[in-house]
Amino acid sequence: MTETVTQIADLRRHVATWRHAGEAVALVPTMGALHDGHMALVAEAQRRATRVVVSIFVNPLQFGPAEDFDRYPRPLERDRALLEAAGVDALFLPSVAEMYTPGFSMRIEPGPIGEVLDGAARPGHFAGVATVVAKLLGAATPDLALFGEKDWQQLTVLRKLVRELNLPVAIQGVPTVRDSDGLARSSRNVYLSPEERLQAVALPQALQAATAALEAGAALGPVEAAAEAALLAAGFASVDYVTARDAETLEPWHDRSRPGRLLAAAHLGRTRLIDNLPLSPAVHQSI
Ligand code: AMP
Repeated sequence: MTETVTQIADLRRHVATWRHAGEAVALVPTMGALHDGHMALVAEAQRRATRVVVSIFVNPLQFGPAEDFDRYPRPLERDRALLEAAGVDALFLPSVAEMYTPGFSMRIEPGPIGEVLDGAARPGHFAGVATVVAKLLGAATPDLALFGEKDWQQLTVLRKLVRELNLPVAIQGVPTVRDSDGLARSSRNVYLSPEERLQAVALPQALQAATAALEAGAALGPVEAAAEAALLAAGFASVDYVTARDAETLEPWHDRSRPGRLLAAAHLGRTRLIDNLPLSPAVHQSI
């Protein structure tokens, strides 16, 4: 039975009871409109902890004024049924007023790592993410919190948040879940028209081709430019970035002995899609 909890104080009581009984507690923060990607986080949480809390909160702080906060999908009863079927222990469903009390003014500023890539395209986004995640961690006090690699920059920002603020929680990344044609699952995919949904596959395809070229030793600039051209040729309206970065610092991937990440964001119709793939470090041949 998945209990729905709307108050922070009630959530704390539940978690305190579990912890007192020696159980490990995992938190899976989401904005709802749940899909297989979210459910993979839940399954991993259940492997690593005995109690799992899923939060659903469409966080106004991480949306820009011209973004989709109002039209973001909110299929609550469907979400609740999915969590129930998965055996999740509690759904934390706070109101905006519960999370942001009158006069709320605190912000956690990630600094430069939150100002590049999606942070450049969406000013204030990662301060909104870092602030809400810090609040959710403070409210739920989990041993472990799980986030998808689909939002790679978010994962790097949150690892840094927990490390630099000494928050007593482990952050676990979970690999991206994809549709059978390779498109990463996303709550925003419902915005795509049938034609756009077909065109969208060009995003994982361009990333895969670029990853192969980079791992074979090609230079960053031409590979990134070719991937961008492929997206535009496939019908994307504009490309915010296609770029190979250090997987942890998000600086350009110049030191290829370190793990890299190829990241992209592009607009298809009125939908902004993001995706990323790992770049394996070059192995020095010793023979
Ligand atoms: P969201 O509801 O979009 O804020 O996502 C909640 C969590 O689910 C975040 O940690 C996301 O990175 C993760 N997530 C979203 N889509 C996927 C996916 N396709 N595969 C794995 N994790 C995902």
